[in-house]
Amino acid sequence: MTVRSLPKNAIELIGLEKTYPASGKVGAKRALKGINLEIPRGSIFGLLGPNGAGKSTMINILSRLVNKSGGVAQIWGYDIDKNPREAAAALGVVPQEINMDPFFTPRESMELMAGFYGVPKRERRTDEILEALGLGDKKDAWVRQLSGGMKRRLMVAKALVHAPPVLILDEPTAGVDVELRRQLWEYVKSLHALGTTIILTTHYLEEAQEMCDQIAIINHGEVIACEPTETLLTRLDRKTLTVQPLEPLTAIPAALSDLDAELRPDGGLAITYRLANTQISELLNRLNNEGIMVKDLATTEPDLEDVFVSMTSTTNA
Ligand code: ADP
Ligand code: MG
Repeated sequence: MTVRSLPKNAIELIGLEKTYPASGKVGAKRALKGINLEIPRGSIFGLLGPNGAGKSTMINILSRLVNKSGGVAQIWGYDIDKNPREAAAALGVVPQEINMDPFFTPRESMELMAGFYGVPKRERRTDEILEALGLGDKKDAWVRQLSGGMKRRLMVAKALVHAPPVLILDEPTAGVDVELRRQLWEYVKSLHALGTTIILTTHYLEEAQEMCDQIAIINHGEVIACEPTETLLTRLDRKTLTVQPLEPLTAIPAALSDLDAELRPDGGLAITYRLANTQISELLNRLNNEGIMVKDLATTEPDLEDVFVSMTSTTNA
């Protein structure tokens, strides 16, 4: 047996391209425009981007559901073209769509999957994985009788039958209730603690920021940022405080001209500030000093759109 050292990156993509061919009235679509990405072994890595960004396309190329149009993809150091078996053995994918054989029980689906990956009978951990995902008492139920949340957990279980060192979850919490989301994240964190590299896609900044140590932002088939979550957040640390004064304002007081403030049509004031160096209380004190009495206030965070705008403008600057 050859001993192979552990790869530096769990996933490596070099110039990855995908163009879906035209079909019917729909023209060809260049979904991935030369993606370069390194996902370090041992990370919890977030692929963040709006619907249609190309996240699932990337993942489906790795799991060979979609053929790439160009570039190189490696999983655990194995090229998916040159070493397809080794690459597949290193990867578990929980797909975005629930797709399940309704006439099997969870135990049967797991065993089929294990057979597919060639896991020897004595090495199978079907019961253990089902228990860990809270499906222990549903092992022999019909899959079609499971709730949506249970099906989602079974999808995770099925991705783990061959104990892959890399697990990808494609939008695992879309349409999932709060409790299941929490359970799922706890389980994912426990897998990570045991050494599994985790990659998840989401279009929620908040979710990526809570779970991931590194985030790549994908938009229109391109990686527009890839950095540690903390670094990314310091770049995005803006918030907007909107105040409704008791007396609508007609102008921004001169004494507040150093602030990034905007007068709103209704006489309110929208002040954008950096979280890192500003306290709301300071801002409110300054308004108070100008004799502005606050009737109501709200703070808003930048959403993904704002993030893209600020990212693209920084890259172009
Ligand atoms: P995401 O997962 O980030 O929402 P997708 O990878 O699903 O994005 O889609 C990227 C782009 O490719 C979208 O414009 C989508 O319409 C298109 N696309 C995805 N799958 C197909 C397909 N099978 N045929 C044609 N176009 C597709
Ligand atoms: Mg998707």
